[in-house]
Amino acid sequence: MTSLAHFEQIASVIELPHQAVIDGRLQPSATGRSFENVTPRNGTVINRVAECDAADIDAAVSAARRAFEDGRWRNLHYREKKRILFALADLMERDAEILAVLESLDVGKPINDALSVDVPGAIRTLRYYAEALDKIYGEVGPGTGDRFSFTVEEPLGVVGAIVPWNFPLHMAMWKVAPALAMGNSVVLKPAEQSPMTALKLGQLALEAGLPPGVLNVVPGFGAAAGKALALHMDVDMIAFTGSGSVGRLLMQYSGQSNLKRVSLELGGKSPQIVFADCPDLNAAAFHAAWGIFFNQGEVCTAASRLLVQEDIADAFLDKLLMIAKRIVPGDPLEPATKFGAMVSAEQMQTALSYIEDAARDGAALRLGGNRVRVDSGGFFIEPTVFDAVAPDAQLAREEVFGPFLAVSRFKEPDEALRLANDTVYGLAAGLWTRDINLAHRAAREIKAGLVWINGWDACDITMPFGGFKQSGFGRDRSLHALHKYADLKSVSITIR
Ligand code: NAD
Repeated sequence: MTSLAHFEQIASVIELPHQAVIDGRLQPSATGRSFENVTPRNGTVINRVAECDAADIDAAVSAARRAFEDGRWRNLHYREKKRILFALADLMERDAEILAVLESLDVGKPINDALSVDVPGAIRTLRYYAEALDKIYGEVGPGTGDRFSFTVEEPLGVVGAIVPWNFPLHMAMWKVAPALAMGNSVVLKPAEQSPMTALKLGQLALEAGLPPGVLNVVPGFGAAAGKALALHMDVDMIAFTGSGSVGRLLMQYSGQSNLKRVSLELGGKSPQIVFADCPDLNAAAFHAAWGIFFNQGEVCTAASRLLVQEDIADAFLDKLLMIAKRIVPGDPLEPATKFGAMVSAEQMQTALSYIEDAARDGAALRLGGNRVRVDSGGFFIEPTVFDAVAPDAQLAREEVFGPFLAVSRFKEPDEALRLANDTVYGLAAGLWTRDINLAHRAAREIKAGLVWINGWDACDITMPFGGFKQSGFGRDRSLHALHKYADLKSVSITIR
């Protein structure tokens, strides 16, 4: 029973989450102020959400601190912690369609993606860390005859998680699940464009039996709620996913306050390189298209630069364009839609502003470039492809965070590797070749946290995720992420 009517029905009957979750209670902001929640599907205001600021952050941090210090979560038996986190995962599964509808309404992403990627991805993440939480062991040092030394990993205390709007629930869970698994308390600040699934998560956590104060969700604007959280003297860490400019601010806030730890998952300008000996041109063309057009290009690992070897470039581009032409923007709540709306009017305008820049820089527009479905009131733009993008063109260097593909051609493999690394970012890179030596050499030489060979985005929760260079530091996913939320203590006992 998956039809537009079915999802519209869900959207019309559910109560849209709008209150903060602080200390186990749903509440309005301290000032009583709220902000408009606009759906990019048609540009209308569908909800008003508590506009929290420093006072609410302070209340949430105090609640989180109390919960941490009295050990109601940290000292709970690991079997009980697992039971609660698994119960939360089960509730998310029960409410998967509601979560997917909230995500689609907030972000404009296709409901089918929310149902098949975002929500199950968040649930898998939660179960992965719930399973891992009783498999964390310390080490015993070599010691000396009269000394026994060992290490323990201890939770940091209060973790502030600040997340973006492109995968609101999934990104939140990449932080919340390992932080909770390690025994921390969390204050989650969702992006102002997409607060609803985080708030629903906070509600479900209470229903699952997570003790009050352990997970607080505080919606609000970055410059008020986010800044207050990052400057707070009683927050031990900020785990952030978002833009480089805010990442820089967070490091400053840390320096201006209590030197809290900061982990940053930032942007990218990720290259996908297709060498002339590509083992499967159809698959490469599919991934070249969906590598950039998935989630309307609002993906930090978007394959926004396509580097293709000259000998095959024209034929390859034809294949790619055939696929891209069939990707038509549609109503996000319609199950057949594969490409939805941009998150906001602002994000749509930012993306469209690159059209002029690209033309000025001499790039050739091969597809798209327009706002569409204007009558719907929604924020839709077409998949857009530019060929002959010069390496120093703005489109080759800046993260658009929209469905804009910059195609450049190269002659020799070394040139491709040089172009791939010619960026301040280092999040992801992909390459297609049959040559195992070239594949290994490229995997070594490309400065990026994720390298995919003969595939794109070919990994999952078991593999670490994060950037080199200005794409940030610290890793989400995998067991590595757990250690980010802990401090390492060395204990030595002198035996007398
Ligand atoms: P953003 O940096 O504008 O906002 C991210 C979060 O930071 C939001 O919750 C926002 O409210 C908050 N914020 C804004 N100003 C703040 C301040 N002064 N102090 C504290 N918090 C503040 O990013 P965005 O536009 O929401 O997301 C897009 C960016 O996120 C892109 O650059 C994208 O590449 C990046 N991103 C990275 C990853 C990754 O894992 N590397 C994943 C998704 C998105």
